[in-house]
Amino acid sequence: MEDIKRRLCDIVGERFVSDRAEELFFYGRDPGLMPPHSPDFVALPGTVEEVREIVKLAFREGVPVVPMGAGMTLTGLCIPRKGGIVLDMKRMNRILEVNDRARYTIVEGGTPTGALKAYLDAHHPRLRFSIPDSPAATTIAANVMIHGQGRLTQQYGFNSDMVTGLEVVLPTGDVARIGSCSLSPDWFSKGAPLPDLSGLFLGWLGTTGVITKVGLKLYPRKKMREVEIFITDSPDFIPDIIYEITHTEMTEDINIFAQPLPLIFKDNHHVVVYFTGDTDEELEFKKKSVFHALDRFIKNKDGGFMTVGPGMKQSLLDMPQRSASTFADVTKGGGFEYSGPIILVEKYPQCSRKLDELAEKYDLKYHATARIIGRGHAMMFAFSFTFNRADEDMMDRVRAALREASEFALSAGGVFWKPTVDEQRRLLQAMDPVTRRLMQMIKRNLDPSGIMNPGNWEVP
Ligand SMILES: Cc1cc2nc3c(=O)[nH]c(=O)nc-3n(C[C@H](O)[C@H](O)[C@H](O)COP(=O)(O)OP(=O)(O)OC[C@H]3O[C@@H](n4cnc5c(N)ncnc54)[C@H](O)[C@@H]3O)c2cc1C
Repeated sequence: MEDIKRRLCDIVGERFVSDRAEELFFYGRDPGLMPPHSPDFVALPGTVEEVREIVKLAFREGVPVVPMGAGMTLTGLCIPRKGGIVLDMKRMNRILEVNDRARYTIVEGGTPTGALKAYLDAHHPRLRFSIPDSPAATTIAANVMIHGQGRLTQQYGFNSDMVTGLEVVLPTGDVARIGSCSLSPDWFSKGAPLPDLSGLFLGWLGTTGVITKVGLKLYPRKKMREVEIFITDSPDFIPDIIYEITHTEMTEDINIFAQPLPLIFKDNHHVVVYFTGDTDEELEFKKKSVFHALDRFIKNKDGGFMTVGPGMKQSLLDMPQRSASTFADVTKGGGFEYSGPIILVEKYPQCSRKLDELAEKYDLKYHATARIIGRGHAMMFAFSFTFNRADEDMMDRVRAALREASEFALSAGGVFWKPTVDEQRRLLQAMDPVTRRLMQMIKRNLDPSGIMNPGNWEVP
C-alpha cells in the first residue's frame, strides 16, 4: 500500500493524494442512506495523462478505481465498496471550447454545472444547457453518466441525449474518442452517422471507463422566462393534463409536485409549467396556447391556475432550484433521499397513491416530484422522504419505504434511475436474459479485472 501511495504521489504530486483518516472518512460516504465504506486513497488528477497513469497503475495492481464528481447522487454510487482509489475529478474543471454557431461546448470530466452556467452567463448569454436541480458543484460528466435530467429535458430528452462526444480513459489506460471527434476536430455528434459507442459508457456508472471530456449540446437562451402553476386535487387528471400541455409544444419544462406541508399545498397536485420567449408577445402566445389547452379542466372545475406570488415565482425560476435541498431540513436533521424511477406519465396516479400510503405506513414526511421527459414520453417520479440523521429509527423507516417504493415502481413497469447497488441487482435479475448477457460481455471486455467502481453493474 505504501508503494501505491508513493506511485500516486509521483503521478499527481503529493498535494493531490491523501490517505488521511479524516479525508477517507468523507470520501467513504455520501449524503444519502447507503452504508459507508472507506477508500484506501484519494487522488485528484489534473490532466488526462494523469488519469491514464492512475488507471494503468490500478490495472497492474488490481486496485479498484472509483471516479467521482461531487458525489451527490444520494444512492451511494461513489462509495468505494471494495476500497481502492477514489478518483476525485474536481481539478479537471476547464471549459475547453464553446462553438456558438453549432451550439455545443466541450468541457473536462470534472467541470461543475455551476461553472458552465457562470461561463455561459458571462461570455455567451444567448446560449444555455439543461441544468439539473442538483447543487452547482455537481459535475456535467457525472450527470450525463447517470442519465440525469434538467431544465430542457421536456424539450430534448435526458441530459445524456444531449452529449455530442466523449473522451474516455478505458480501464486499460487507453484513451478512446467517441463520436465525430474520433475523426474530426468538430464535436457535433456522439454517434450518428457512426455506430453510437457512447452507450458503452453512459449509464454504466463509471464501471467501463473515466470520462475526461464531454461534448454537450447548447440551446438558444431566450430573454424571458415565466412560470405558471395549474392545480388539481385529483392525481387521476394528471396524465391528461400533461398530454394536453405537451401537445402544444410551447413549454420549456414541466414539473409536478405534491406535498402535505405547508398546508397550502395539501391534497393538491401542482403542475409547474415554464415558458420562455424573446418578446412579451411570444410569451403571451405560448401561455395562451397552454391556457386554451386546459380549458376543459377549468370548465369542469377539475383544476385551475393558481396565483404564484413573487417570492414563490423567483424560487421556481431559480436554476438550480433550491427547494430540493431545503426539503432536507424539514425534519431538522439535514437528510433526504428519493427513489426516482423512470416510468410512464399514465402511472402518475398509482405512484402518487403509493407515496401517500408509504408515508402513512412509515410515519414519514414526503414530497412527490415528477419531471416530464420528452413530450410526455416518460417521467421521473421521485418518492422523496426527509429524515433526521440522528434518528436511527427514522432512517430505517425511510430505507424500508424507499425499498417498497422501488419494488412498486418495478412492478408498475418503471426502471430505477441512478439505482443503488441493490436496485442494480434487482434490475439485472428482472431483465431479459439476452440483454443481461450482452451487458456481461461488454463489462468483461472493457474491464476484465473488474477494477472500475466495483460492486456496480456486476452482472452475475
Ligand atoms: C438537492 C438535489 C437535487 C437534485 N436534482 C437533480 C436533478 O434535477 N436532475 C438530476 O439529474 N439529478 C439531480 N440530483 C441527483 C445528482 O446530484 C445529480 O444527478 C448530479 O448531476 C450528480 O453529479 P455528481 O457530480 O454529484 O455525481 P457523482 O455522485 O460524483 O457520480 C455519479 C456517478 O457517475 C460516476 N462518475 C462521476 N464522474 C465520472 C467521470 N468523469 N467518468 C466516469 N464516471 C464518472 C460515478 O462513479 C458515479 O457512478 C439531485 C441531487 C440533489 C442532492
